[in-house]
Amino acid sequence: MTLVLAVANQKGGVGKTTSAVNLAAALAMEGRPTLLVDLDSQASASSGLGSRQLDPPTVYECLLGEVPTVEALRQSGLSGLDLLPSNRDLAGAEIELASLEQRERRLSMAIAQVRNRYQTIVIDCPPSFGMLTLNALVASNSVLVPMQCEFFALEGLGALAASIDRVRQAFNPALDLEGILLTMYDPRTSLARQVASQVREHFGDKVMSTSIPRNIRIAEAPSHGLPVVCYDPISRGAVAYRDLAKELISRRLTQSQQRAVASVELVGESGEEASTR
Ligand code: ADP
Ligand code: MG
Repeated sequence: MTLVLAVANQKGGVGKTTSAVNLAAALAMEGRPTLLVDLDSQASASSGLGSRQLDPPTVYECLLGEVPTVEALRQSGLSGLDLLPSNRDLAGAEIELASLEQRERRLSMAIAQVRNRYQTIVIDCPPSFGMLTLNALVASNSVLVPMQCEFFALEGLGALAASIDRVRQAFNPALDLEGILLTMYDPRTSLARQVASQVREHFGDKVMSTSIPRNIRIAEAPSHGLPVVCYDPISRGAVAYRDLAKELISRRLTQSQQRAVASVELVGESGEEASTR
């Protein structure tokens, strides 16, 4: 089954785009065909993969149902990684979507057309909780929440967890919180250590074991149109994102093994029942 993962947090500058681009690239490097969906009109994820100021069609036309999704897909420079890009047109979509039928399912419908091609689809969300982020959460199985270890970070997380709950109840019962990802983490500062331990206390194993260090190579890579895992594969930032991809894959495998074991047990139980009758 394809994993559709929204990378969301209504705060800007917490590492959403960086994490979406690099996790998508790292998953492709692990041999999983991956699509990165840029759902921000700033188009930073697109330019992070070397696609700047693109002509249509982009994700915008796909959301409006004007072109088949497959026509808007672009190959990235990395084998196994495709991009559904955005451009400035997407800024109008928050308002335009509001008057359309099935307005919160538009991205889900667009993704459904190409879902079979990929093992993972990673969606880079804008820094607000509007119609576009709602579309991302309705289209996803799971949400990854990047956060920076700073003073007010926890307050924002509570609001986001509540929004995810509302979307789950109203539109998408299958939506999971994949995990919280600590980004730009600098263990030398006591504030970062304190916030990290508070988040782990509060959210337990929902915090990803891998954290992303503050690393200059991560910040430099987008100006070369490359994910850091390609720009400087041995940098600390690249290694962290590759570890994150491996952690995500192993969590998912563990979950599906647990489901498989549970269903074998269920079959076993009903078999026993049948034989005693
Ligand atoms: P968001 O998408 O949440 O707004 P970005 O991913 O664009 O956040 O990150 C905000 C800024 O921080 C960018 O300039 C990015 O290059 C930088 N940045 C993100 N993660 C790191 C990191 N781990 N180390 C250093 N700089 C980072
Ligand atoms: Mg961003």
